[in-house]
Amino acid sequence: MDKPKTLQQAIRYFSDEQICIDTIAKLRWPNGPVCTSCGHKEHYYLSAQKRWKCKECYKQFSVKVGTIFEDSPISLDKWLAGLWMLVNCKNGISSYEVGRALGLTQKSAWFMLHRLRLALQNGSVNKLGGPGSEVEVDETFIGGKARNMHLDVRERRITGTGGKDKTAVMGMLERGGEVRLTVVPNRRKKQLQDQVRHHVAAGAALYSDALQSYDGLSQEYGHKVIDHAEAYVNGRVHTNGLENFWSLLKRGINGTYVSVEPFHLFRYLDEQAFRYNNRHKPMNDGDRFTLALSQIAGKRLTFAEVTGKVGQASC
Ligand SMILES: [Zn+2]
Repeated sequence: MDKPKTLQQAIRYFSDEQICIDTIAKLRWPNGPVCTSCGHKEHYYLSAQKRWKCKECYKQFSVKVGTIFEDSPISLDKWLAGLWMLVNCKNGISSYEVGRALGLTQKSAWFMLHRLRLALQNGSVNKLGGPGSEVEVDETFIGGKARNMHLDVRERRITGTGGKDKTAVMGMLERGGEVRLTVVPNRRKKQLQDQVRHHVAAGAALYSDALQSYDGLSQEYGHKVIDHAEAYVNGRVHTNGLENFWSLLKRGINGTYVSVEPFHLFRYLDEQAFRYNNRHKPMNDGDRFTLALSQIAGKRLTFAEVTGKVGQASC
């Protein structure tokens, strides 16, 4: 059967567990399976258990071991269908929708989506920018719709100063390239400039608004400021690329997810940045899926970690 191009084809294709295993194994171990215990390359395949047995240490391992799927009772066909939906729905997909579509409880689907988002995390060590490129930097605040909160939550979160319940997010966008997002505890100079230096190569043109926290970057960057009190665009100096990204991000978070705890916000940022950075042709739905699936290994997320609660059973 041909590689799937649509959700419907993907669901049909991955309904065969052996195809799921072969697809993941090929991405994970391009030169053949490697023992997850000792790294040895020779093994037997136990087709009844769908596991490999190492010829060196005799330990058995499945394709799930050492990935975001490890210890999950959810079958691989559901995992892969969930991943397909997550990377290809422009505004994201809620745990309610995934739960209904795949026959999982909302709680299981919620945990599944958080594990899948871990695969979407950008592990790139390459910096944005460099000589000749243009990078926009800006911040926004996410969260805190007081009128939708229960009274006790509202009292806990809102202290009368306004804005305290919101989380600051900083974005750096290379024009024609990638976006990087990070949650920041505040918008002070040290916070924002550390992020710029971490994510943007020296020598790039850097465009920001008139926030004073950005003062002092002009030795390393071609830093130009657009004062939004005067104008939003001055030739090439503007942050409209990021402004557009913020509205996309907020549409996803407010429309699809309704409420996002600040604690989990970075995972939604990873998700939105992944789709944005891989949105252009020649990337199609199947390519986005394959790219994400190639990033599942070496990552674990337990239920206790994702909820911040230890001692609860995983689902
Ligand atoms: Zn081994």
